[in-house]
Amino acid sequence: MVKYNAYVEEMHKHAEASIRLISEIPKIELHLHLEGAIPLSTLFDLIKKRGGAPSISSLEDLKKKLTYRDFSHFIEVWTWKNTFIQEERDFEEITYHVLRSLSKLNVKYLEAFYSPGDYLRQGLSVPKITEYVIKGKEKAYSDFGIRSELIIDLIRDHGPKVGMQRLDEVTPYLHKGVIGIGIGGSEQTFPAGPYRDLYREARRRGFRLTAHAGEVAGPVSIWAAIRKLKCERIGHGARANEDLQLLSFLKKSQIPLEMCVTSNVKTNVFKSIKSHPIKQYYNNGLMVTVNSDDPTMFNTTITQEYLQLVNELNFSLQDIKQLTLNGIEASFMPYEMKEKMEHKFHEEWEKLLDKYSNSTVTVSDK
Ligand SMILES: [Zn+2]
Repeated sequence: MVKYNAYVEEMHKHAEASIRLISEIPKIELHLHLEGAIPLSTLFDLIKKRGGAPSISSLEDLKKKLTYRDFSHFIEVWTWKNTFIQEERDFEEITYHVLRSLSKLNVKYLEAFYSPGDYLRQGLSVPKITEYVIKGKEKAYSDFGIRSELIIDLIRDHGPKVGMQRLDEVTPYLHKGVIGIGIGGSEQTFPAGPYRDLYREARRRGFRLTAHAGEVAGPVSIWAAIRKLKCERIGHGARANEDLQLLSFLKKSQIPLEMCVTSNVKTNVFKSIKSHPIKQYYNNGLMVTVNSDDPTMFNTTITQEYLQLVNELNFSLQDIKQLTLNGIEASFMPYEMKEKMEHKFHEEWEKLLDKYSNSTVTVSDK
C-alpha cells in the first residue's frame, strides 16, 4: 500500500513516468467494436484501396473527419466508414491489425463486438464475415499472444426478427470464436423490450448476454436490459445515476458496467471527463470496468482511458489496479482462465511497480 501511495504522488509530478507505467500495465477490453478500432493507417489504406474519398487525402484529413457534433452525427460517420469495407476478407486484416495494436498496449484479453449486419447491403454474408474475423484473431493470437472472443452486435435498428436470423447464422460459431450477443445502435428509438425472446433463446443456446444501455437513453433502458433481457453486463450504463434505486441495485447485484468515458464525452452524453460519473460509481462499490469503445473513431486508446482517470478524476494507482482486475472478473472467461489471468496480472503489476518506483526515486534525487 505504501508503495502505491508513494508512487501515485510521484506520478502526478512525473507525467512521463506515469504515461510509461500506465502504457505497460496489463489490460482487458470488454467493450470495443472491431470496426471502430481499425488503426488509422489500416483504415486509410482501405479507403485508398477502394478508390479513395473526395475529402480524404491524408491521415490528418481522416482524423479530422472523425470528430462529431453528437451521437447521430457519429452514426453517420460510422456508416460512411463502413462503405469502404467491401469484401468479407477485409475482416481478417481488420481484426489482425486491431489486435496487433491492442497487444502493443499490453491488452491481454479482449471481448470484441463486430456488427456483420451492417455489411449486408454491400452483399457480404454473416457467416463468411465471422469466419474471416476468427481467422484474423487466431493469427493475432499466434503472432502476439493476445486472446480474444467475439460478441455479435445484433443492431437494435434492424429489429428482433432479423436479429433471430443472425443468431441462427452465428450459432455454428458459438464457442469457436463467438461467445455472446449484444445490441448496439439507436437506443432511444429501439427499446430493449421487443428483444426479450431473442435474448431468451440466445441464453438457452449458451450465448453470453450484454446490451448497450444507459448511453444515449436513461435508466429505463438499463432496467430493461436487466429485467427484460437478463443481461449479464451493461454496455456503458453511464446514465445510471439518474435513478438512485438503480444505483443501489447495480451495487447489490454487481452487474458489471462496461464504461467508456471518452466515448461518452465525444458523443455529448457528458460535457467533460471531469463530469463523468465513473468515479462516483467506483467509490459507491459498483462493478466498473474501463474500455475504449471505438478507439480510432474517438481518438483514444485504452491506455489513454486509464491515464485520464488518474489525471482528471484522481483515481489512485491502487484503484487502477482494481479496475484492471475488475476487467477479468467481469469477463466471460471460464473460471480457471480468470484465475490464471489474475495471477499473471498481480505478477506484472508487482514487477512494474518495482521498476518504476526505482526510476522515480532516481528522478526525484536529481
Ligand atoms: Zn459500444
